[in-house]
Formats: sequence, C-alpha cells, structure tokens
Amino acid sequence: MIDLIRETEKAGEIGIIGHIRPDGDCVGSCLALKAYLENVYKDREKRVTVYLEKPAEIFSYLKGYDEIDSEYTIRKLDVCFSIDVSSLDRLGEGLRLFQEADRSICIDHHISNNGLGDVNLIEPGASSTSEVLATLFLDEYMDAEVAKAVFTGIVHDSGVFQYSCMSRRSFEIVGKLCDYDFDRTEIIDETFYRKSYAQNQILGRTLMESILFMNGRCIAGAVNRKTMDFYNLGPKDLDGIVNQLRVTRGVEVAIFMYELHSLEYKVSMRSNGRVDVAKIAELFGGGGHVRAAGCTMNGTYYDVLNNLSAQIVKQLDPVQ
Ligand code: 5GP
Ligand code: MN
Repeated sequence: MIDLIRETEKAGEIGIIGHIRPDGDCVGSCLALKAYLENVYKDREKRVTVYLEKPAEIFSYLKGYDEIDSEYTIRKLDVCFSIDVSSLDRLGEGLRLFQEADRSICIDHHISNNGLGDVNLIEPGASSTSEVLATLFLDEYMDAEVAKAVFTGIVHDSGVFQYSCMSRRSFEIVGKLCDYDFDRTEIIDETFYRKSYAQNQILGRTLMESILFMNGRCIAGAVNRKTMDFYNLGPKDLDGIVNQLRVTRGVEVAIFMYELHSLEYKVSMRSNGRVDVAKIAELFGGGGHVRAAGCTMNGTYYDVLNNLSAQIVKQLDPVQ
C-alpha cells in the first residue's frame, strides 16, 4: 500500500511517467493520477506533469491530455512516479527525469517488474495499473474525470473485462466507477473497437496470410514496413491483431510482429493460459504478463518464429 497524499504533500514538482508507445492503460493511469492529485491539491501550488510519447488522438477526451509533455522537458522533480512501466528501458526519454528525482515511486502490475523506484507497488494479479491506482484513491477526491481515466485503463488492459485478470475486486472497482456520470459505452466503442478502413484492411490481410503450426497450437502473423507504408499506418494501428489471432480455435499461443527496421521485429505474444509468454519474452529482453507479453527481436520473420517456437515447445511438450 502507498499513501499517495503522504508521498506527495511536501512536493512542489511532481512527475508522472508512463512507458514508451503508451497503450490505453498507460494513458488512463497516468492521467487518472494527475487528475486525482490535482483534486487533492486544488488550492495549493503544485505542478503535476505527465510525460508520455504523444498518445493516440482517441484518448483526447481525457482530462490533462493536452497538457502531456511529450518533449520530456527536464525539471528537478521532488517526486516522480513510473506508472505501468515494467522495466527502466521502457521509460524511454523519461529515464533521466525518473532517476534524478528526489524520490521515485513505481506503481505497476507487470509480473516481470522487479521494482524500479525507492518505493514500489507492483500487483501482478491486478487487471491493470489503473486498477492498482484506484485502490489508492480516496472517494472524497474522486470525480468523473478521474473515473473516466481509470475506466479507460481497465477496459484496455482487460480486453473490455474479458481476460482472466479481471477479479472480483476489478469488477467492484468498475462498479463504483458507474456512480460517476460519463458515457461508458462510448469510451469502449470509440477507443477499443472502432477501426479505420485501413486498419481493418491490414487486420484482414494479416489474418489471411497468418500461419498455423505446431499442430494448430500456434499461430503467427506479421506486418512488414512496406505494407505499413502502403496503408500509411503506424504501430498504434496494429493493436488488436494479436487478439484476433489468439481466438483461433485450438491455438495456445498467438504471435504477432511488425517490422521496426530491416531484420528487427517488435513481437507481441498472447497465450490462452498453458504457456507463460512473459517468461519467453523475458528470455529475449522483453517482459509482460503470463498471457500477454512482448519483446524486440532480431533476424528475419522466420528466424524470430523459430526462436520463439523452440521456447513454446519447451513449455507445451516438456521432455519427461
Ligand atoms: P503488447 O503485446 O500489447 O505490446 O504488450 C503486451 C504486454 O507486454 C504489455 O503489458 C507490455 O507492457 C508488455 N511488453 C510488450 N513489449 C515489451 C517489451 O519490449 N519489453 C517489456 N519489458 N515489456 C513489453
Ligand atoms: Mn498495463
């Protein structure tokens, strides 16, 4: 447990840093914490800055979105939070700010996180970092803006409440968020399900060209640079492809990758529970959760697949 007020009451400059290529939970949790602290310190002189690579426009309805510092302006921070960040390299340009702060506080839910701060709260069982934060928020400082941001984070990291990481506590927190006045359906539709025509096209292409192997227990799909350029799409537009691969009947592990540079791929893995993909991602310098993890790997598409399948086989068919 962390007492957010005790940790911040003497601080004038507070920083909140999320991970590179921020997803819905990262954006939601960073902005939830900012909005909450601003409610706590309404009339007091404090600056709370969120540092993030520019998040997708779809999240612009969240309070504080326009004030995000994507330039990572160097300031001497009294307290700096790392939020939803599983390892120091995932802080990107925020690393220096975090390391030079007088006090650093790490709040996260990644099983691979060993604790990055002076104070650490890591709950691998939580659906999202937004959920972890919600357990620290006092009702008197909650409002619809904080609730919206927490809701967004939980929705995104749980696949709209679908994954096994949703516990009774997660649902109870979501239940309490329903007391605040905001359009939940619109958030789910507009930020999770809505796709542009081009996004749907690249999803369709990737599914069509996907390969099924290891007796149907593994599926893989990839997008190369040329295809991304052709559709004029970036990495953020590829969210959700790996989840569609995962629901293929019979599949234990789904692998999706896109080309970062020649012979370098960003890999996303999803498991249906039998394989711990965080363990595999960690072997290749990445991390994540048992059922959802990622890493960056070198080589051709087939090199990467071979290296990953060797590890998946070890878990699915352990030598007796
Ligand atoms: P995604 O596949 O959606 O990008 O990520 C799934 C999970 O794995 C997320 O929780 C994310 O934080 C984690 N993850 C993805 N890529 C990396 C990586 O390169 N390094 C680490 N440490 N974690 C990653
Ligand atoms: Mn998260």
